Amino acid sequence: MQPDLPLPFTTARSTSWQSLWRDAIRDPRELLALLDLDGMVAGVCDSAAAQFPLRVPRGFVDRMRRGDIGDPLLRQVLPISAEMAIMPGYGLDPVGDAQARTGTGMIRKYRGRLLLIATGSCAIHCRYCFRRHFPYADETASHDRWHSAIQTVRDDETIEEIILSGGDPLSLVTARLEELTTALAALPHVKRLRIHSRLPIVLPERIDDDLISWLNRLPWPITFVVHANHANEFTADVDAALARLRATGATLLNQTVLLRGVNDYLQALTDLSERGFAAGVLPYYLHQLDHARGTAHFEVTDTDARRLHAELTARLSGYLVPRLVREIPGGTSKHPL
Ligand SMILES: *Cc1c(COP(=O)(O)O)cnc(C)c1O
Ligand code: SF4
Repeated sequence: MQPDLPLPFTTARSTSWQSLWRDAIRDPRELLALLDLDGMVAGVCDSAAAQFPLRVPRGFVDRMRRGDIGDPLLRQVLPISAEMAIMPGYGLDPVGDAQARTGTGMIRKYRGRLLLIATGSCAIHCRYCFRRHFPYADETASHDRWHSAIQTVRDDETIEEIILSGGDPLSLVTARLEELTTALAALPHVKRLRIHSRLPIVLPERIDDDLISWLNRLPWPITFVVHANHANEFTADVDAALARLRATGATLLNQTVLLRGVNDYLQALTDLSERGFAAGVLPYYLHQLDHARGTAHFEVTDTDARRLHAELTARLSGYLVPRLVREIPGGTSKHPL
């Protein structure tokens, strides 16, 4: 007789984005074993991992080359001893967020735009992250169910664009995001919503029916700024997620951090722009590294960055060339190099 309930081995593995999120790899040794790099465990730095834990979804690990410790995706997530170097000029608040803070989880730097630190969580922990030292626990705009953020926007009619950032704003469940947008929709001076998220790239399963249906109900033009640093980050699943986002009418842009050993050569940047465009994403910014403590080994000099950017400009169609910028605390915009 057939049992009423499917047996465990006949049940499809749950692939809700939450379960994939929880299933992320956090142990550097497990990561290296999966990549046939067991021999390289001596290169893992436990103190770096203690400061900022390893976290990487299994689907992202699948895109790394086996047996290659220099893989450009692996370098973005593996804690190594170079992070422990204390370098002059590399600090805990590299972009002046503390000074630009206008309320809990709110950062106001540029005209017309309010950036909300929606949450401190990310599906992936990028070693070069400029907010790796940010005091997230008490500093998110969602902590009070958006109350003070909504009040701030209501009281300031010069705010025309809301930028959801983090952490990764899509780490919040869609219902929580909708609480915010429902309140914002009642404020006529809000004209645009922008979502800065690495999730469409690193955990494309997050772009689920719920999220798409929420996006389709929003009253504003939506811009997604995704974050990919290397062409190898794109897969068929990423393409499908991005296509679903595009089908809502959203504009898709990519920002990249220029990273030594990851994408600091012409072919890598060319492939990234072309691969992104094939997936419906236009290059937006190529960021010079923000000087967060523990990231100096990723630095590319301004001279090399300018040369690469000039070569890229000579090689690609204009719309495939991102703007090379550095964030300078106190500036009125990202600073073009
Ligand atoms: C980068 C940033 C923005 C967005 O700047 P754009 O040049 O419009 O992309 C807005 N607010 C803050 C605090 C930022 O750091
Ligand atoms: S996804 Fe963005 S915010 Fe999160 S760790 Fe990576 S760079 Fe930092």
